[in-house]
Amino acid sequence: MDKSKRMPPACVAYFGLIFFNLLCLSKKLFMIKEKILVIGACGQIGVELTLELRRIYGGSQVVASDLREENELLKGTGPYVSLDVMNKEMLHVQVIRQNITQIYLLAAILSATGEKNPNLAWHLNTQSLLNVLEIARDEQIQKVYWPSSIAVFGPTSPKTNCPQQTIIEPITVYGISKYAGEFWCNYYNHRYGLDVRSLRYPGLISYKSEPGGGTTDYAVEIFHDALTEKKYQCFLKEDTYLPMMYMSDAIRATIELMEVDASAISVRTSYNIAGMSFSPKEIGEEIKKHIPEFKIIYEPDYRQAIAESWPQSIDDSVANKDWGWKPAYNLEKMTTEMLKNMQQFLRKNNSNMIK
Ligand code: NAD
Repeated sequence: MDKSKRMPPACVAYFGLIFFNLLCLSKKLFMIKEKILVIGACGQIGVELTLELRRIYGGSQVVASDLREENELLKGTGPYVSLDVMNKEMLHVQVIRQNITQIYLLAAILSATGEKNPNLAWHLNTQSLLNVLEIARDEQIQKVYWPSSIAVFGPTSPKTNCPQQTIIEPITVYGISKYAGEFWCNYYNHRYGLDVRSLRYPGLISYKSEPGGGTTDYAVEIFHDALTEKKYQCFLKEDTYLPMMYMSDAIRATIELMEVDASAISVRTSYNIAGMSFSPKEIGEEIKKHIPEFKIIYEPDYRQAIAESWPQSIDDSVANKDWGWKPAYNLEKMTTEMLKNMQQFLRKNNSNMIK
């Protein structure tokens, strides 16, 4: 090439900078244009996830929806629609009307409640996902998020550091529905190129909204009762170890997975993620460091068998390798935060319960 026609290096740097700035601007504009639908927004995860998505994308860009009445914490923070995810036509209308570009599907029946009505749990958990996947395919939705659970694992899966790929033979209807769902996500990705992403959450510990009928709910109830009653009756045996995670880690994991470039994602079923692992006795002892008079008694019920069918800890090295997942909370840090935050929350919302 004729040297006289080459651009001087200063010009190359100048145009390079302009190009970079345009790229950043277009990314920002692109992000602003995202319109997100959260289905099941009034549940334990939905409330906190919706609030965080609204903080990132702007209140008006995140449409919260649920069967229930709008949660108090969501009121005034963005749009809310009353929606039954099983009504495919109504869901389709909302997706079109609201110009939705991303869907987070959180509606489900959880492990303990599922065992009381297996047919309903199977129907809701699988049909809701199929409705969302079909509409997402039809409307060329950019990204779909759907959570799976450690409940996919069963008694034949390894008990400690349960790997991403292993023997998976769930014994609860909830676990069966989640495992089937993982393969539907994988299928829509491979067959239709739909960008659907998923995490296998462990038991989630939070203070803003109540847990929805899972086997790990004790790890939320225990904080509530420690603060209000100074004692807790636990439905699991004292030495039952289960994988758990503080909600802020779960929300961060969800958003980190959804923001990462699609090329980084090697798992289109669902990623193992881990936070911490403890038994009721261990969390009780951690609470006693803050509330010395706290007492815990054990009355195991039908949930003990469910808990015993699950692994005690999870290997999340694939999530770490693919998109850098690392939890920030261990048992000690989570207990301190939970007691502080739940106390403030109870004072604000139900002050006469604190003793
Ligand atoms: P949750 O029960 O607290 O919330 C689910 C929400 O879905 C509720 O507000 C409910 O009203 C709504 N819903 C139910 N049926 C609906 C329908 N037909 N149409 C619209 N909304 C409907 O559950 P969660 O704990 O927030 O869990 C959310 C997701 O995360 C679920 O898929 C669950 O399986 C998964 N998960 C949760 C945990 C956990 O510890 N919370 C652990 C593993 C996986």
